[in-house]
Amino acid sequence: MGTRLAGKVALITGAGSGIGAASAALFAAEGAAVGCADMNLAGAREVAERITAAGGRAIAIAADVADPTSAEQMVGDVVAAFGRLDVLYANAGIPGSGSAGDTSFDDWNRVIAVNLTGVWLSAKYSLVPMLDQGSGSIVNQASVGGLIGVPGIASYAAAKAGVIGLTRQMAADYAPRGIRVNAICPGTVPTPLVRTTYENRGGFATGTDGPVDVDALLDAARVRFPMGRLGTTADIAHAALYLASDESGWVTGVALPVDGGMTTV
Ligand code: NAD
Repeated sequence: MGTRLAGKVALITGAGSGIGAASAALFAAEGAAVGCADMNLAGAREVAERITAAGGRAIAIAADVADPTSAEQMVGDVVAAFGRLDVLYANAGIPGSGSAGDTSFDDWNRVIAVNLTGVWLSAKYSLVPMLDQGSGSIVNQASVGGLIGVPGIASYAAAKAGVIGLTRQMAADYAPRGIRVNAICPGTVPTPLVRTTYENRGGFATGTDGPVDVDALLDAARVRFPMGRLGTTADIAHAALYLASDESGWVTGVALPVDGGMTTV
């Protein structure tokens, strides 16, 4: 067991799969008690049970981050279980495929509701115990799609650019009160979310013809990344760990690309 988050309590949304699940395991292995929140309770339970079996502390929470009552309850559950809240990793998200002209009104609203409003609501309620304590670290999940123009993901890109704006704004508001707010902008990491995006011909799958072979498309996407490979959930989880921990104590308001150099070229 490491000690980089010793004594801290973390809430991770979307902890039932992909990047959130990897981060929950890593945070717990570094000493944090972790609230694993997800709309998919079965996924969150599996992650929390794996953490407890390995000697860590975790609870599973059923939550829809796009719903204010559920988001408030999620924060309340963590504080009730562990007594405080030091870290929020607002990671929950859904895919959004389609260019601006062919995105439906309903799809647009749902992607904004989960990927942007959900990040705001998670912070809004997490700020209550953090402001009482006079300390906290909020890590928001953005995307390279919020920094540069990636084809075929209009709603998703708009939400992620919004997350970056919200991150900088909150960093300015809450720095004097001891709360840091940063964002991570991951490149492509093969997870269920990315596979759905590619299946719907969003992102780098745009413009491909014929039947969709997601594995082949993902393999071909490697050329977009100067480091020659796609990301792993561990790549992103380690960036989140740094921003969550006191090691980043003088870092706030950044949107950190974790993308194998993709946005540098
Ligand atoms: P994933 O599909 O593996 O995990 C997302 C999790 O969020 C799922 O467990 C899902 O049930 C949960 N979730 C969805 N809607 C929710 C809601 N309303 N309330 C609570 N939980 C909800 O995907 P992932 O790739 O691990 O994505 C995690 C985050 O990383 C997302 O915000 C995504 O946009 C972002 N991201 C991913 C990539 C990538 O390449 N994988 C790149 C950039 C950004």
